[in-house]
Amino acid sequence: AGRPAGLSVVLVGDDPASAVYVRSKGKATRAAGMHGVEHVLPADTTQPALMTLVDRLNADPAIDGILVQLPLPRHLDEWAVVSRIDPDKDVDGLHPVNVGRLANGVPGLRPCTPLGSLLLLEGLGAPLAGQEAVVLGRSQLVGRPVAQLLVNANCTVTVAHSRTRDVAAHVGRADIVIAAVGIPGFVKADWVKPGATVIDVGINRVAGGLVGDVDPAVAEVAGALTPVPGGVGPMTIACLLRNTLEAACRREGVAFGL
Ligand code: NAD
Repeated sequence: AGRPAGLSVVLVGDDPASAVYVRSKGKATRAAGMHGVEHVLPADTTQPALMTLVDRLNADPAIDGILVQLPLPRHLDEWAVVSRIDPDKDVDGLHPVNVGRLANGVPGLRPCTPLGSLLLLEGLGAPLAGQEAVVLGRSQLVGRPVAQLLVNANCTVTVAHSRTRDVAAHVGRADIVIAAVGIPGFVKADWVKPGATVIDVGINRVAGGLVGDVDPAVAEVAGALTPVPGGVGPMTIACLLRNTLEAACRREGVAFGL
């Protein structure tokens, strides 16, 4: 189409972890040859001011993707902000229209971390159809969408969460385990079926650095285990770029070949 794909990332406030994420997303965008713009707004930004920025980005022809870094400061209404983004520029896949498209299994922009997890599974090359998958966690950001992607890929899916009885028994049946609970080392080696594929979505800050939701000893039992850091995290950023390219191709009427 004769122009680079464009991504705007919006950060409100000075949460250090969010600032790191936004910087690395901007850097990756430009390294990929895309047009990347970061909008850093003060913590006391008002709801109307943020809505006005979203409206401006929705109307900007050079911008294909808009990502508002969550969580927002507490005085702001996240649901209203995410719902204001043009669904076809919603590269985080969290707009209710894209949530509905995923639920119905029709094309749409998918949330980046779940999409990255699915691409890792597909990359192993084994068919996913008929596999027993257990998802630990039911958040809007990870657990629910990853479960829906797995259903759409013809897996048999169980979603376990904080009220599930005997999580270990569910994990023990799984060919595929997706851990997204936010508890360091939650999944133990003696829960996991030998040879199972384990995707560790967790990113937990502890005294010694970053650790996942899966005990590293699981590596001795599993057929494959994603590392933390270095597994799902980089895939999340890669999928943000992929979604931006997909959104750009749709807007320009160009075939998206990935
Ligand atoms: P969340 O806190 O919103 O959700 C956690 C989920 O875990 C909840 O649905 C809860 O029901 C479930 N849970 C809590 N205790 C449980 C238990 N004992 N047994 C089973 N389930 C239990 O968290 P989230 O946003 O889904 O994130 C989960 C983890 O993934 C966090 O560590 C987060 O940092 C990480 N994360 C990583 C990426 C990435 O890019 N790799 C992206 C998003 C989130």
